[in-house]
Amino acid sequence: MGDDLIVVAGGGGFIGGHLIGALRSKGHRVRSVDIKPIADWYQVFPDVENVVSDLKLKDECERACRGAEIVYQLGADMGGIGFIEHNKASCMLSVLTNTHMLQAAHQAAVKRFFYASSACVYNADKQKSADVIPLREEDAYPAMPEDGYGWEKLFSERMCRHFREDFGLVTRVARYHNVYGSDGTWEGGREKAPAAICRKVIEAKLSGSGEITIWGSGQQTRSFMYIDDCIKGTQAILASDIEEPVNLGSSELVTIDRLVDIVEEIAGVRLKRNYDPGAPKGVNGRNSDNTRIRQLLDWEPSITLAEGLEKTYAWIYDQYVAKYGRGTLRIAV
Ligand code: NAD
Repeated sequence: MGDDLIVVAGGGGFIGGHLIGALRSKGHRVRSVDIKPIADWYQVFPDVENVVSDLKLKDECERACRGAEIVYQLGADMGGIGFIEHNKASCMLSVLTNTHMLQAAHQAAVKRFFYASSACVYNADKQKSADVIPLREEDAYPAMPEDGYGWEKLFSERMCRHFREDFGLVTRVARYHNVYGSDGTWEGGREKAPAAICRKVIEAKLSGSGEITIWGSGQQTRSFMYIDDCIKGTQAILASDIEEPVNLGSSELVTIDRLVDIVEEIAGVRLKRNYDPGAPKGVNGRNSDNTRIRQLLDWEPSITLAEGLEKTYAWIYDQYVAKYGRGTLRIAV
């Protein structure tokens, strides 16, 4: 298999690490590039070319794309809702990474370019009710995305389209909906709801506090995609002839309270729930309409939330105990 070089930008991150794991197991030659020091990468593969570099800089993008056949552009300054609501300018600066990676990929004549977009591009007016109508790809317009992070993603999607139309660069764009799994952020402020809830339940269980704080009312609805489905879908979209952005998400809709129920069942605890209405909570409801991906790939994410959370909880539990030991009293926020 493949002597062709595949570049994964953001390879030290959650999705990038899993993607590289899948690519190298198929025998591909991979270059992983990330701004973080290698000690902070979630997964490091010794048989991969690992490069620390700031891809906001054009020269660095040119170096990263040299000799590449395929580029997966996953590098972005991002996090869960607590991070993106308070770091809008930092999120928007990822436009530099996307612009320069597209230019460098075009210059290096790469054969295919994948861009990781997000469900945050969808019009906020369509996400006001927890009783959601799943989002179809055309619901991104007229544009009213998530302020900051979502606007940047929508702009960069658009740039992918025009690099394809004007310069002939083959671009593929997936709109990820809430991805979760092992080897990702689980504390520190950038974590997303599934990891945060797992950590809080673990904290409550080990400390014996018996309580948990939930951001919002617990009635917001979301769908969550397990990482294995994300990696499979990402590679399939890259290889496909789907030119327009396509949803890549689970359509199993749950309330945040249901997410907590599932984690409690896994942990074998029942906790008193305190709701924090002032905390960042994002849109009221969001789900992925998978009609298009089903039509075009004859596939859609199907790993259940209960199945994926079981594995994610076990991984976060091990991380937590390794870092803090058992029985420490930390305050879950
Ligand atoms: P992550 O934060 O774990 O990974 C992103 C990586 O990009 C990080 O390791 C970060 O250090 C790196 N990076 C940031 N700025 C960089 C720069 N200037 N140069 C080089 N590397 C840089 O996030 P993730 O969950 O793996 O997300 C990967 C991609 O998928 C991102 O573009 C993200 O916006 C998108 N996405 C993720 C989700 C999700 O639920 N995880 C949902 C929608 C979209």
